[in-house]
Amino acid sequence: MHFCTVEMVKQNGKWYAHFTLKKEIKFDEPETVIGVDSGEWNVATAVAISKQNQKPMKGKFWSGAKIREIRGKYAHIRRNLQRKKRLDLVKRFGHKEERIVNQQLHTVAKEIVAYAKQFEKPIIVMEKLDGIRDSMNSSAKLNRRLHAWSFRKLQMYVKYKANLEGIPVVYVNPKNTSKRCHRCGHVAQANGREFRCPKCGLVYNRDLNAAINIAHTLMRGMGWGSREPPELPNEVLVKN
Ligand SMILES: [Zn+2]
Repeated sequence: MHFCTVEMVKQNGKWYAHFTLKKEIKFDEPETVIGVDSGEWNVATAVAISKQNQKPMKGKFWSGAKIREIRGKYAHIRRNLQRKKRLDLVKRFGHKEERIVNQQLHTVAKEIVAYAKQFEKPIIVMEKLDGIRDSMNSSAKLNRRLHAWSFRKLQMYVKYKANLEGIPVVYVNPKNTSKRCHRCGHVAQANGREFRCPKCGLVYNRDLNAAINIAHTLMRGMGWGSREPPELPNEVLVKN
């Protein structure tokens, strides 16, 4: 533990020094990349790719159904309270909804870290979330803020829990993550739950394709060789 930065801030005519403490954690050289995609249908989708054979293995999905159900239930309650002009209660129910969603996100984060732990020297990679997701259309605008909020929370929990286990977490540029074919690199529009590549004919689970793309971005960044596209679609064993 050591001091990292000192920032001087003036408040009400007085100067304050803000010290930032930084704890250094040493990580081993990673052997397995864990690509994690977060979305609305599946709140998270993970896939593991080892340095040795570079083939995606053991995909896992965490359904977003529970969170959608909670959101739907509370949206209904809120509408009723607004109709009855009980705005005092709207806020209270909002806090309750937030708590319940948080609990769900904590559980998912815990399971993602447990998933990562079963592999040799894992490193978790997720999308950088500053930008707007490329898969979002204008009709999704209303929900965007809520989802962005959930994704950020989930990422925060994953990072915290993973670091406690000595697992590093990094972020990569999300550009075309859900639009790129993980087999041939062609960029196409994904429709529905499936990704269909018009160039090489790949038909693949949309979220799993995105998770593999996220992993590939980091693999390229770490210089894990130039990846030759496989001749056949990657058969990923999916465990639920
Ligand atoms: Zn393709």
